[in-house]
Formats: sequence, structure tokens, C-alpha cells
Amino acid sequence: MPDSFDLIVIGSGPGGYVCAIRAAQLGMKVACIEKRDTLGGTCLNIGCIPSKALLHSSEKFHEAGHALAAHGVMVEGVTLDLARMQARKAEVVGANVKGVEFLFKKNKITWLKGAGRVVAPGRVAVDGAEYEAKHIVIATGSDSTPLPGIEVDERRIATSTGALELEQVPGHMVVIGGGVIGLELGSVWKRLGAQVTVVEFLDRLIPGNDGEVAKQFERILTRQGMKFRLSTKVTGARVEGDKVNLTLESFKKGTTETITADVVLLAIGRRPYTEGLGLAEAGVALDARGRIITDAHFATNVAGIHAIGDVIAGPMLAHKAEEEGVALAEILAGQAGHVNYNAIPGVIYTWPEVASVGQTEEQLKEAGTAYKAGKFPFTANGRARAMGMTDGFVKVLADAVSDRVLGCHIIGPEAGTLIAELAMAIEFGASSEDVGRLCHAHPTLNESVKEAALAVEGRALHI
Ligand code: FAD
Ligand code: NAD
Repeated sequence: MPDSFDLIVIGSGPGGYVCAIRAAQLGMKVACIEKRDTLGGTCLNIGCIPSKALLHSSEKFHEAGHALAAHGVMVEGVTLDLARMQARKAEVVGANVKGVEFLFKKNKITWLKGAGRVVAPGRVAVDGAEYEAKHIVIATGSDSTPLPGIEVDERRIATSTGALELEQVPGHMVVIGGGVIGLELGSVWKRLGAQVTVVEFLDRLIPGNDGEVAKQFERILTRQGMKFRLSTKVTGARVEGDKVNLTLESFKKGTTETITADVVLLAIGRRPYTEGLGLAEAGVALDARGRIITDAHFATNVAGIHAIGDVIAGPMLAHKAEEEGVALAEILAGQAGHVNYNAIPGVIYTWPEVASVGQTEEQLKEAGTAYKAGKFPFTANGRARAMGMTDGFVKVLADAVSDRVLGCHIIGPEAGTLIAELAMAIEFGASSEDVGRLCHAHPTLNESVKEAALAVEGRALHI
């Protein structure tokens, strides 16, 4: 008789491991299959956590070398020990992945080590052994999208995985893709001393984000020394010795040129990962982009098989995967799990940070929704001035009739933390007046959120 479980989750990323924990909390007998040597998925091993460790360390390096003197803190002879920085990052990752292992033990979740494959509804194989489960959840995540003609070796031409592991600061890094990964990891290596050129297909950065924020972001990153080639595509990359020669084609100018890089970072998006899962044999339907098709309850077209996280539609974000994991475990336990996709914040952890929740002005215009916008710059915020971090602004968007908050877009210090208040406002159906009347501690960066909310009705106090 094969071992049998109430739930088997395939993949231990933030979607899978959180779903497993919540299901165990609700009394299910749970197993989670992971083929990597450590738990935690892309996010903990090669994504969110290592990138944030390097972003934080490189920010410290940049501050020590360039920003402390303005505070009267004089530091001389600042040098980089990249090996130590990378070792620290590995320690941070190690502590996090061990943390998930501890949570599995605490919640009595069985870790089945190896690659999982769906044999049939209710049956899963892991490296030759078979297991039974009432419910199967696929949470196998994503990997980076390839670009035809660009061969990744993770050394000279790297995805984010290779770009997190560089042992030397490249002289010139060319980033293909002006999205989240390109700008976060581009920022890391720029701060550590690389010259960074970002080649972006579209005529703007961070598509999908608020256009005004994207423009300001481009201005600030340009001031920091990053170079941008917008409306440009890479048509080829040739490795020659230690260098990569890239051919670029500009749509606007109609010109072709060659640029040379020490390291190329390919960051043009991620695609769902379903390799070796046996989905076709099991009859699980995928959409045109290779994502597993699910209904509002995360059910696939095959009874007993569910899917969550990067492998299904929606933003490829760790917290989105987690929310889906919790909601699905609750649904499987007969409760009313639900995810409000309109209240999922997105954050870019550069300096300054960029954060958004809800709808953008572009989306509201396209939908024909009448809205009012309130804006407040960090230059008018006392705390931001005290910190010497006045780049950016908060923008609150509210329904012109009901005043209900529809979206918020922030570029500035701690934007990723500030956005939580507006995610809560959207979740609770608050109005901009509610946010504006809430007492915010002084002096905090959060006061900029209050002021932007007040600005919706033209009554900001400090500008
Ligand atoms: P994943 O985390 O991809 O986990 C899937 C797991 O399934 C993997 O461990 C894989 O080994 C395993 N697996 C796959 N197939 C099988 C199989 N057949 N058998 C067994 N195991 C299998 N998101 C944020 O919200 N914030 C960030 O700051 C952020 N930073 C990022 C930085 C980088 C560089 C990258 C690449 C991504 C980042 N993301 C960030 C995105 C985030 O990592 C993903 O959205 C998130 O990890 C998706 O979670 P998931 O559980 O769906 O899948
Ligand atoms: P992305 O979708 O954020 O950006 C990709 C960029 O590449 C876009 O601007 C796109 O227009 C451009 N592009 C596409 N094809 C191109 C081409 N041929 N030449 C030049 N440019 C091209 O994707 P990403 O930066 O690779 O990140 C992947 C996913 O990982 C994202 O969905 C993101 O949500 C997630 N992620 C999130 C965080 C975070 O939350 N802080 C950090 C890293 C990654």
C-alpha cells in the first residue's frame, strides 16, 4: 500500500510551503515534494531573499562611500570585500531555508525529496515511489524566459541566478529588460562599481506600473549613473574571450550598433515551470502562455488537482503565491478561502523604492472610471528631509463619486513599507477621506500618505 496523504503539494516555494503549513494547521495530513536540496523555492534560494540581501549590502557600501559625509560621518578608505558580501548572502539564504524546514517539522509536514510527477488524479510519483493523496496541489513556480539567439551560461550571459553569484564586479554589465529584476540587480552591481546599461524593448521602464512613477524612476536611476536604451532590442550576443558583443537595434532611430559587456543579465520576464510533471498525460489544461488554467478556487480541469503561484495566471510575486496557498488550503478544508487580486502590492526594492497597489491612472482611464488623484512629494515631508531622502512622491487615486481608494503609487524612501496602509484601505473599502483623517505619527514618512490622501480633495496641509 503506498503512503497516503490528505494533501500532496508539489513545490516548496512560498506558494507550496505556505499552503502545506495552512493545510496542516487545519488538521490535514500533508506532504510536500521538493527536488531542490533545500526548501523555499525560487524566492528563498535564488530570488527575493538573496537579491534583497545583496541590495541591502550594496546600499551600505554605497552609503559608506558616498552618502555619509553629508551627515558629518567621515569614513575613509571604504573597500569592497565581495566574497564576504556573497558569504553573508549565503548565510541569510541558509537561515531562511532552514526556517522552512523547521516549520515543516513543527507542523508535521513530510518532505518528500525528489522530483514529483502526477501519475493520475490522487496519485503522485517521486523518484520511483508512489504516493496517494485526496488533493494534489501544483506549486512548481517559474523560471526565466529565454531569448532566442542568446545562450545563457550563467557566467558571461546570466539570468538572475548567475547575476546573484558573480565573484567579481563586472566592468560593464548590460541588462536586457528594464523590469523588476533588471533594475534591482542592475542597481546592486551599479552600486558596487559596474557601469550598467539597460536595454529595454518598450519606450518606458517597468511596464504595468504607473507611467508618472516610471518616468520619475528613470530620471532618478539616470542621475545615479545607469544608462538606458529604450525602444531597443538585442538581436544577437557573441561571447569572445571574456567579453560579450551585443548587437542592438533601435526602433526609434532605425540604427544598429554593437556594444561590449563583461556580463549580460537576461531579465525579460519569467515563464511557468511545468517540466516533467506529467500534466499532458494527466490531461491538465494549460493556456497559450504555458500557465496551468485554474478556476476561482484554484481547481484545474482535472478533479482533485489544484494549482497556485507563479505556475498560474496573475502577478509573479511571492506574497501572491502565499495568499493563494492559504486560500486554497482553507477551500480544501471546506472554508471560504479568497484572494483579493486588487489589493496585492508590488514593490521594487531599488533606491528609492517603487511600490504600488490597486489600479494605475492608465488602467482607470482605459476603463473609463472617473477618478481624482492626490499627490504629495517627499520634499515636503519633515522626516524625509531629516533622512536626506526626498526623492519621489505618493499618489493616491480615488473614485470621483464615492471617494473609495482605487490605487496608490509611491516612489520614495520605504515605499514598500508605506504601501501596506493603502493595501489595507483598498481591502477595507476605505475612502481617501478615511485615510486623510487617520492620525499619522509625526514625524514619519507615512505622513506623506495621509497628505496625498488629503490632496485628493485639494486639502493637503503641508504643501
Ligand atoms: P517557486 O518559488 O518558484 O517554487 C517552486 C518550487 O517547485 C521550486 O523550489 C522548484 O524546485 C520546485 N519544483 C518544480 N518542479 C518540481 C517537481 N516536479 N518536483 C518537485 N519540486 C519541483 N517576488 C516578490 O514578491 N518579492 C521579491 O522581492 C521578489 N524578488 C525576486 C527576485 C528574483 C531574482 C526572482 C527570480 C524572483 C523574485 N520574486 C519576488 C518572485 C518570487 O520569487 C516568485 O513569485 C515566487 O517564488 C513564486 O512562488 P511559487 O511558490 O509559485 O514558486
Ligand atoms: P518583468 O516582466 O518585470 O520585466 C521584463 C522587462 O523586459 C519588461 O520591461 C519587458 O518590456 C522587457 N523585455 C521583454 N522582452 C524584451 C527583449 N527582447 N528585449 C528587451 N527587453 C525586453 O520581468 P523580470 O524583471 O524578468 O522579472 C520576472 C518576474 O519576477 C516579474 O514578474 C516580477 O514580478 C518577479 N520579481 C519580482 C520582484 C519584486 O517583487 N521586487 C523582484 C524580482 C522579480
